[in-house]
Amino acid sequence: MADYNARIAPFINIVFYVTSAWWEQPRNHRGIDLSTGGNDPLYSMCNGFVYYKGYDATGYGNYLIMKDSTTGMGFLYGHLKDPTPLNQGDTVVIGQQVGIEGTTGHSTGNHLHLEMQDISQHEWQYQAPKEVYTNPADFMGIPNVEGISVYYDGTPIPPTPTEDIKHKFPWFLYHRKRRLNFRTWQIDNFVLYNNYTFTQRRKLLWKILLISL
Ligand SMILES: [Zn+2]
Repeated sequence: MADYNARIAPFINIVFYVTSAWWEQPRNHRGIDLSTGGNDPLYSMCNGFVYYKGYDATGYGNYLIMKDSTTGMGFLYGHLKDPTPLNQGDTVVIGQQVGIEGTTGHSTGNHLHLEMQDISQHEWQYQAPKEVYTNPADFMGIPNVEGISVYYDGTPIPPTPTEDIKHKFPWFLYHRKRRLNFRTWQIDNFVLYNNYTFTQRRKLLWKILLISL
């Protein structure tokens, strides 16, 4: 049985292994290596289209890049047994077979090399620095750990937003708005203050004190 269930994965209804973690050192491993040990079907992890289809004898072997039409996320699948039967521009949907696991290019055994990049703002970048990539293990909902076994049953579960996005952002906005409002209020009342009598000034100072508590 698998150690982990993935929320989305390029293999479906079969246990596969993380044979090399994402950004593994010292080689700055730009993808995560996933293997069933055989030549199993590879499925799309996004609803989008074939962004690029290529062959790289000393690197990725037969590979393709898919792009999510909604988020702009790119997915590179490398070392495919054969070239994908799809063509550039063809539509893909989650769970659609796009190729077969293989060991073409720079590879020592059957596995999928999976890379992810947000290509909503720029074209796919090869040999790019770490910040250009997305950690595929995070996206799949599994730990980025070599040696673990994973199972995915084909039912995609959307990623949960992080605590940062859920709570911190609205609080920051709220405080900023409150500070700006108070500042505007101070400026408006400072103009009045200069024309006020002693009693009016005392009342205003009490108001400022209460408002700032
Ligand atoms: Zn790899």
